[in-house]
Formats: sequence, structure tokens, C-alpha cells
Amino acid sequence: MTDPFVEVIDEATLADRVAQLGAEITKDLGDIEPVVVGILRGSVPFLRDLAKGLPLRSEIDFLALTRFGYDGKVSIAMDTSIPLDGRFILLVEDIVDTGLTLSTLRKMLLARGALEVKTVALVDKVKRRIVDVPVDYAGFEVGDEYLLGYGMDWQGKYRNLRSIWAALDLSVLQKDPLALAHRIFPEHAVPAGRSAVR
Ligand code: 5GP
Repeated sequence: MTDPFVEVIDEATLADRVAQLGAEITKDLGDIEPVVVGILRGSVPFLRDLAKGLPLRSEIDFLALTRFGYDGKVSIAMDTSIPLDGRFILLVEDIVDTGLTLSTLRKMLLARGALEVKTVALVDKVKRRIVDVPVDYAGFEVGDEYLLGYGMDWQGKYRNLRSIWAALDLSVLQKDPLALAHRIFPEHAVPAGRSAVR
């Protein structure tokens, strides 16, 4: 039987690319004081590592979205605590797929008076885009496999995986949501998060 899971981006490759993105963004920022806004919950591991390479004058905040309907409509479930009007915003997303989330949020923040909104996504599924939204910085371009790890989840799990895996057959996860955990750590009946995160 073919393996339904494959590691597509390992830890070292992730670390190198995230550091490169940080350096590139920092260079472009010049003396701008950005508010780095992470979209909960998927952006957390990426933002944590990216922020280490951003200027110390950056501020960090988060917002959470509620998705409804099949057309990807979003509303804000948890807002930022820093007022964003007149500010330069770096919007941080784990993965851009159709582009609906990023596009809606970008417009929302500009309508609220943000000075400028730049976007950074760790992973970009370019071919699946249905709305045109600028992804100013993208870590990796990928195909349309379902990805897990480093912020990306299946039913809330696997966000704390250190590297990125693709699920080639989603029915395996539908049957057993812990199938990838058992694949990576076959020695653990219930894999400990401790072995998956540093
Ligand atoms: P978009 O609005 O661009 O279609 O979707 C973005 C959101 O869809 C991401 O923030 C993420 O929550 C979810 N998503 C899209 N593709 C994947 C994927 O391959 N894996 C996971 N875990 N989530 C995905």
C-alpha cells in the first residue's frame, strides 16, 4: 500500500526560508514601524519564527475569523487590541488557497483606515486562487494537496508538528484523525506533543 502521508517541507528548509522572508521584509520596511497581525490559529508557529527576523520596533497582534457559507465569507470573531488606523500592517497567514480570506481581510483593514496592508503567507497554493489578492511575500509555492503541520491542522490537530506534511488520501484522516501521528511516531500509542515540538 502506498504511504498516504509525505513530508513535503522539513524543519531545516522551513527555518531557512522563514529567516530569508524575515530579512527580505525587514529590508523592504526601511524605517516603517509595522503592526504584524497574525490570523489565528494557523499563523502562530510561522509568526513566532518570522518575527525573530523582523525589526524590534514591530508590534504584534492577532485576529481570529469565523468562516461561514461555501463561498468563504468571513467575519471577525476576535479583533486586534492595537488600533490599526493609520498603521502599516503586515498580515500573516499560514496558507493562501482560494485567496478569499486574505482578500476579505485586506479590504476590511483598508476600509478601517490602515495606511497600507502587506501580506505574507508561508505557503501559497497559487493554482487554486479564485480571487486576485496580492501575496507580497510567499514562503513556498505548492500544489493542491492538503497540508498539515507548522500551524496547519486537521480537525484542530497537527498544528504543533515541526515540519509540513501532505495528506495524499484524505479518507485515511477521515477514518482516523490520528493516522498521521501514528505514521510519524509508530512507537507511541498516543503520540506526545513533546516529541513533535521543541
Ligand atoms: P482561502 O480563504 O485562501 O481559500 O483559505 C485559507 C484557509 O484555508 C487557510 O487559512 C487554512 O485555514 C485553510 N486551508 C487551505 N488549504 C489548506 C491546507 O492544505 N491545509 C490546511 N490545514 N488548511 C488549509
